[in-house]
Formats: sequence, structure tokens, C-alpha cells
Amino acid sequence: MKSLDQYLHDAEQAHGHLCAGQVLGVRLAMLGLQKLGIDDPRGKDRKRLVTFVEIDRCATDAVAVVTGCRLGKRALKFRDWGKVAATFVDVSTGKAVRIAAKESSKSLARRMHPEIEDKNQQQMLAYREISDDDLFALQWVKVDLPPEEFPGYKSERVVCEACGEGINFRREVRRAGKVLCCACAGEQYYTII
Ligand SMILES: [Zn+2]
Ligand SMILES: [Zn+2]
Repeated sequence: MKSLDQYLHDAEQAHGHLCAGQVLGVRLAMLGLQKLGIDDPRGKDRKRLVTFVEIDRCATDAVAVVTGCRLGKRALKFRDWGKVAATFVDVSTGKAVRIAAKESSKSLARRMHPEIEDKNQQQMLAYREISDDDLFALQWVKVDLPPEEFPGYKSERVVCEACGEGINFRREVRRAGKVLCCACAGEQYYTII
């Protein structure tokens, strides 16, 4: 594993700026990998890890930088729960750890550095200094990952009987004997104009 500073450098490049969320995300991911004993997530261990993230904010980009898990490799899973938390799954052992940033970290940062007025600067510094135990809550968990959730899984595609668009394995909905895509089954997030 690289050092905190090296990861922060990489995260700044990937994210476009350095912010408190990057520091939190880098440390959160480093702790997750350390707990799983994964020390080369982008090299020899790159097929061992699947990561679930629970927020679409700055910290998520940092988690992706440290873990090397990407949406396009099916190794990064997004749950839109609005929490600064992530679960790291070692698919070679089935061990998984969920780590969440403690809500108290913001007030702790305020207490540690009242001399810094800018919130982001204050938290950026404090989030480097606060211990893992004060910054994060950790749970060992079990994650059911069916074969099609693994990176590299390949299987047939099906075609939606309503709209004709192709759908990757197991993302289809079967209803009244018909194969439908999620949109045609009523789950669309858009309306056609
Ligand atoms: Zn940011
Ligand atoms: Zn359809």
C-alpha cells in the first residue's frame, strides 16, 4: 500500500481538488484494505476486491482511487444511501468489513482546530490527525455476492420484449411470461418526451 500522502496526491489528480472528503475517503479505504490484509489492490490483489460505496460525494472518488475498484469493472457497487460508508469484500476469502465515518468527526475537528475558520481546511487537517477509532465505526459483515456480481462474470444477454433493447444477464424482469427491462417493467427514472 502507498502512504496517506501518496494516495492523497493520486486522489487530488483523479477528483480535481483536495478536500476533506478525499482525506476521509482515502483513510476509510486504507483502513478497509488493512483489515482485510490486502496490500496491493491495484497489482497482485486486484481481483480480490469488490467495494460497495454508500454515497455519491467526494469520499467515493477517493475510495475508488485507493481500491482501484471501478464501476466499469463491476468491482464498485453503488448504494444511494447518503452515508459516508463503504464495505470492502475480499472475494477470495468471503471476508467483508463495513466502515462508516462517525458523525462526531465534524465536531471533533472543530474542537481540535478552532483556530482554522474554513471548515474544509479545518476538517482536512483534523481528518489526518484523528485516530481510526475516533474517525470510523467498523463492522465485520457478510455480503451475498451471486456469481453475476463478480467482476469478469460473463453470460448471455437477453432482449426486452417491449422495447427491444438488450439487457445483461439477470438484470431483466420476468412478468406474466414476458422478459422485460427495468424501464418497461415500470422502474424508469425518466419519462419520454
Ligand atoms: Zn471534493
Ligand atoms: Zn424495455
